[in-house]
Amino acid sequence: MADLMEKIVSLCKRRGFVYPGSEIYGGLQGFWDYGPLGVELKNNVKREWWKTMVYQREDVVGLDAAIIMNPTVWEASGHTTAFTDPLVECKACHHRFREDQVKGQCPDCGGQLTAPKTFNLLTEVYLGSTEPKQKAYLRGEITQGVFVNFRNVVDSSRVEIPFGIAQIGKAFRNEITPGNFNFRSREFEQMELEFFVRPEEAEARKWFDYWKSRRQEWYINLGIRKDHLRFREHAPDERAHYARAAEDIEYNSPFGWKEFEGIHHRGDWDLSRHHLTYQDYTPWVIETSGGVDRATLFFLLDSYCEEGDRVILKLHPKLAPYKVAVFPLLKNKPELVAKAREIFENLRLRLTAAWDDRGNIGKRYYAQDEIGTPWCVTVDFDTLENDTVTVRDRDTASQERVSASRLDSYFADKLK
Ligand code: ATP
Repeated sequence: MADLMEKIVSLCKRRGFVYPGSEIYGGLQGFWDYGPLGVELKNNVKREWWKTMVYQREDVVGLDAAIIMNPTVWEASGHTTAFTDPLVECKACHHRFREDQVKGQCPDCGGQLTAPKTFNLLTEVYLGSTEPKQKAYLRGEITQGVFVNFRNVVDSSRVEIPFGIAQIGKAFRNEITPGNFNFRSREFEQMELEFFVRPEEAEARKWFDYWKSRRQEWYINLGIRKDHLRFREHAPDERAHYARAAEDIEYNSPFGWKEFEGIHHRGDWDLSRHHLTYQDYTPWVIETSGGVDRATLFFLLDSYCEEGDRVILKLHPKLAPYKVAVFPLLKNKPELVAKAREIFENLRLRLTAAWDDRGNIGKRYYAQDEIGTPWCVTVDFDTLENDTVTVRDRDTASQERVSASRLDSYFADKLK
């Protein structure tokens, strides 16, 4: 299984999904760059999330708050004191670990570990040109941007409780041990919903359960195998400082069951810390907090297949970087190339499409399978006679003849 992780990391680098950050200068631990295909996959994950969580609902609106906020926000929210992990250091090799992730001895050399020290995860930045510079923080979670805008949203839109505010954006954590590729990094993106409800336990429980199922469904609808997902309830001593209840949606990864997303009952913690109310009460909050980078990694892992020497990423077509690839059967026949170009130019007005005229058709299929392109269109001599093309399906490898003039509606139907 660990082998699968190596294969994914290598595929990501080789085909342009994810590269190590600042690689030409030796890299920087916990930072990753998304290449030409990775940025498409990641944007598709975010787009599908936004469609489901905002566009398809009447009770959720979107927001895009600034990454850097007045540092008082982080004092009020409790992050300057409570957003910590327990740090232990090996007395022999001086490597550092999160106490909850090691069992007694140094995992690297077996040495003795120090007693845990609390280590704050907020990343400091300094603003302005005159000394002393103003200290601020890169946000450690995107959530606070929603809370501090709670009144703005209520006063400027027509929302009424129960309603939610959705946001996607970067967060930064000075993680003690980044690792497992982009699973735990120091800069990452979150996709979150803060859903405001009446402050009653039964009401909060109802929405907590509701959002748990909606979020599980979302991953399954986008192709994650159901038996690769599970819920895990946080023990009271494990919960974040703001949480009254918390459950994680976990994924069965090559490095164990790991958190995809957290569903949190934040009670009135945040709004009351910021002294914010709605009518004459302080609403409670049910939060769904997922990681875009983790989701991207898990979608890649779950879709990876090998059939003989063929590698196929069976990504859901909505997530695939390219929906279709177009080939002329032969690159040295101008009539074929011209017709294929015409089809390609037309398709790319509506879909992400790739062009390939290198090597033979078999090699082109392999190359597209490996990056998850669901359909390939080949223009051959029959196309010139009867205006039909071959459409080949990634998962079944089956082929059918489709009229070139119908391709738009053919793919629109498949992507519905
Ligand atoms: P962990 O216990 O793994 O450190 P957490 O419980 O602190 O994570 P949350 O604060 O609930 O995580 O963050 C919500 C989501 O943000 C997580 O489910 C995850 O998808 C994502 N996330 C959190 N930290 C990281 C990170 N360092 N790298 C990538 N994604 C992250």
